[in-house]
Amino acid sequence: MRSQAMHFQARVPAKLADERLQANLARASGRFVAARAQAVAEYEGDFEALRDAGRDIRDRVVADLDVWLETFEASAAARGAEVLYARDGEEIGRLVVEIARRHGVTKVVKSKSMLSEEADLNAVLEAAGITPVETDLGEYIQQLDDNEPPSHILAPAFHKSKEEVAELFARAHGRPPVDDIAGLTREAREVLRRHFLTAQMGLSGANFLVAETGSAVLVTNEGNGRMVTTLPPVHVVVTGIEKIVPTLEDVATLLRLLPRSASGQRISNYVTVATGVRAAGELDGPDHLYVILVDNGRAALAGGEFATMLRCIRCGACMNHCPVYQSVGGHAYGWVYPGPMGAVLTPLFTGLENARDLPQASTLCNQCGAVCPVRIPLPGLLRRLRERQMDEGLRPRRERRALRLWGWLAARPRLYRLAVRVAARYLDWLADGTDRIRVMGIAPEWTAGRDLPAPEGRTFRDLYAARRKHSKEEGR
Ligand code: SF4
Repeated sequence: MRSQAMHFQARVPAKLADERLQANLARASGRFVAARAQAVAEYEGDFEALRDAGRDIRDRVVADLDVWLETFEASAAARGAEVLYARDGEEIGRLVVEIARRHGVTKVVKSKSMLSEEADLNAVLEAAGITPVETDLGEYIQQLDDNEPPSHILAPAFHKSKEEVAELFARAHGRPPVDDIAGLTREAREVLRRHFLTAQMGLSGANFLVAETGSAVLVTNEGNGRMVTTLPPVHVVVTGIEKIVPTLEDVATLLRLLPRSASGQRISNYVTVATGVRAAGELDGPDHLYVILVDNGRAALAGGEFATMLRCIRCGACMNHCPVYQSVGGHAYGWVYPGPMGAVLTPLFTGLENARDLPQASTLCNQCGAVCPVRIPLPGLLRRLRERQMDEGLRPRRERRALRLWGWLAARPRLYRLAVRVAARYLDWLADGTDRIRVMGIAPEWTAGRDLPAPEGRTFRDLYAARRKHSKEEGR
């Protein structure tokens, strides 16, 4: 784990002030949103019914996770794979290094694996004298940039411009800078091709593990996943225990949801179903296959109030649609998973006390919940985490007192009405006849980076009372 201090708020001012980051986010943010909207509109069936089906498949697995794990293990073993379990990131590192040493591995080609990020695996491999080479283009860019962590689960270098990538490539490859994306991709492809052919081990994640066949399913757009799973003699899959799906038919259902929600594609460029070791007569595939199933906090969620989070298929739609993510980018979240899913997962996996502001890193506008393909109630889960924070005394004393006072007032309607009137007068006074409040007297941090609009006209209670009166008069 790179850092135990994932406090969101401390990182935000620098991200908001970073002009280059802001320009890159503004350029990239709308693309995924527009692409998903179009893909959903063009879907030939009922997309909402498809979301229900996706949710049901994931719930079926999460409800009996232990049984499905056993089924997967038996199916994978029957095809020559060895299934191992890791409790946490440290165990992932230990197991991967052991396997590498057993097979005399000096170089590992990797396709994208968020679990590898949870384990900080590149650092572990390097410390063991083994060279890791990221082959997903975004991950490769991040590796060249001094192993900077990804800022998006689908597009790890989402926060970088083409020019920044060109500079990195020129420095790392010792070639003149290339200024077009196709040229940069070609250059990465040439460099990576050599590594694919010389690595003794391929390491991948898995989008899904199929219980009935023991397969690992990889969904990629670059083809690197296929090279990693078929060329080296040893293949290691590292993925979470919750990635099981009962049947290939269920995978087909989820594959209708995943690319549409993630990048607005009907289907991604490559779907690899890696099943077992290379059999006699087969042209490619590994001689040795290991599947490392990782807990790292997942088992504790099953059966509890956050179990719905285990439905997640890592599509990234929640972060693509999140106004907070769009404003600060992924690194502000401080750990592997950014956006609304990260704001829920990071406190659950690393401890609420290590990720204090993350449940607050949301406006609760429900953009995330509205697009989540497996209907995870993200705002509801964030609210529950906030309640836990209050119960455990993890919010500032001033905030806890203010909320307690608000709760007390809200239970006394007359007093509440009076307090609202006093507050409205106070805000009018601060606005001083203008339409803006430049300094918020009792909470100056609210106006540290922006003005607040002055209250307009009547309060909500006045409007509501007027509307009810009007309805009565109309006899409704
Ligand atoms: S929480 Fe939902 S929207 Fe977000 S990554 Fe997971 S499946 Fe996708």
